[in-house]
Amino acid sequence: MSRLLIAAAVLAAAFLFAALPLPSSPIALPAASSVSSARGSFHIHTNRSDGSGSPDDAAAAAARAGLNFIILTDHGDGTRKPDAPQYRAGVLVIDAVELSTEAGHYIAIGLPQAPYPLRGEARDVIADVRRLGGFGVVAHPDSSKPSLRWRDWDTDFDAMEWLNADTEWRDERGDLLVRALVRYPFRPAATLASLLDRPDATLTRWDALTQRRRVVALAGADAHARAGWMDDDATGYRRGWFLKIPSYEASFRTFAMRVTLDRPLGTDAAADARLVIDALRKGSVYSAVDAIASPATLEFSAVSRTLTARTNATSGGTIVLRKDGRVLAQQPLPALTAEATGEGTYRVEVYLDAAPGNPPIPWILSNPIYLQSDGWGSPSPAAQALPTITRGIQGGPWHAEKDDGSTAQVRQDNYPIGPVELTFRLAGGDRAGQYAALGIGVGKALTERTHLAFSARASRPMRVSVQARHPQSGDRWQRSIYLDSDVRDVIVPFEEMTPVGSGPRFDPALADTVLFVIDTTNTAPGTEGSFTLENLRVER
Ligand SMILES: [Zn+2]
Ligand SMILES: [Zn+2]
Repeated sequence: MSRLLIAAAVLAAAFLFAALPLPSSPIALPAASSVSSARGSFHIHTNRSDGSGSPDDAAAAAARAGLNFIILTDHGDGTRKPDAPQYRAGVLVIDAVELSTEAGHYIAIGLPQAPYPLRGEARDVIADVRRLGGFGVVAHPDSSKPSLRWRDWDTDFDAMEWLNADTEWRDERGDLLVRALVRYPFRPAATLASLLDRPDATLTRWDALTQRRRVVALAGADAHARAGWMDDDATGYRRGWFLKIPSYEASFRTFAMRVTLDRPLGTDAAADARLVIDALRKGSVYSAVDAIASPATLEFSAVSRTLTARTNATSGGTIVLRKDGRVLAQQPLPALTAEATGEGTYRVEVYLDAAPGNPPIPWILSNPIYLQSDGWGSPSPAAQALPTITRGIQGGPWHAEKDDGSTAQVRQDNYPIGPVELTFRLAGGDRAGQYAALGIGVGKALTERTHLAFSARASRPMRVSVQARHPQSGDRWQRSIYLDSDVRDVIVPFEEMTPVGSGPRFDPALADTVLFVIDTTNTAPGTEGSFTLENLRVER
């Protein structure tokens, strides 16, 4: 939003205010629940990236809004050591990170400090987050801004945002935003809630996914405590003039998540953070728009084949039960009881008559109960192994390639069949295309084969980009692999290789060089290390 637009809005306020009814205050409900739960907000930026307030500011705002925990998600590549969980202003603060992948933003919760930058293709970042023990959430999947949208729905992410405040506000027409700006000072959270619509497309996507595998859905505040959107929220932090709206407190009062816990939160921040993160992983979490009615309580369970949902709002609304995305039953508040109609994915949405939005935003949205036979969701059994035809690669010799500032040395003791080692040091400074590579000419060896195979290990955890290069055009195709000090057998299927930059599909008959590349996608400038590989061959 431009400075001019905001100035115009402030001027317009005097003329418009009298004519505009304010959105209503939240309906106050009795807090009735027998289970332990905690209310918290997820997806929060601080002044460590592009938010306006400090972690303490966010925690103090959360305390005022009555939250029990917040999850900070500053932009990064995972190499900053996350702050240990701690109670600030009585609020459990969990430090997470919003990673930028080639397919969109992926938030990692419960991730330790990563040994190398987590970047590149979404499938690789998702695998790295999982290997490191984190829980990953696709952020703002259907942003109206194409560069922020999630673009790879075949990846096996853990969770996704069904609601993202930034996406919702970007969707609004300019005149409605101006009107909201006028009302905001008087009723901040209710004004923000008035901009929410049910995100039909995102929910349809989620319903399609959860018929095949478990995917948790969370509501993301995407709170920055500042107005004005930047061109690239991964790097282009706007440092100039901005309005500190919507405030953290207003964001936290608009909507939040509620996790169901085995015990109440206490005072041990590390143990409590594990409890909250475990509940998120299990999908023991629902979202609620508190600015419509608060507090929001939902109990949703299945006993044998009977599904029951109950809320603390007793009238003026409807509970909708969906199976595999389609409406199976709807009943007036406060409770719904229905029989399951066979295997499927069941979830509820609760609507209040007072809810804003077109279509109306659900007041509460649950995660699914999966009624599935054993074995659903587990990987399909490995395809019957076909006899393998192997062709060793004894082209060569092995050689090093690098940019001017970096170093790369090849060592091979038992030429041409022994293990080969590349020792490298990427030039320091900013990321500027530094690379070091181990290469081998393979002639026509890849023709009519389906994959590369080799065994390898590295001096430290790292990602190596396995590439094939076309001799005339210089076009390359790549598949990133993970290595560490354990020797591992690696297979690189040609059909998983994607063009470096843009280009046609990989045709193994056209490539004559295989490269093992260290570059700044996953290796910080100035890093030194080595990796060793052995028994390189092509198979089908
Ligand atoms: Zn983002
Ligand atoms: Zn964000």
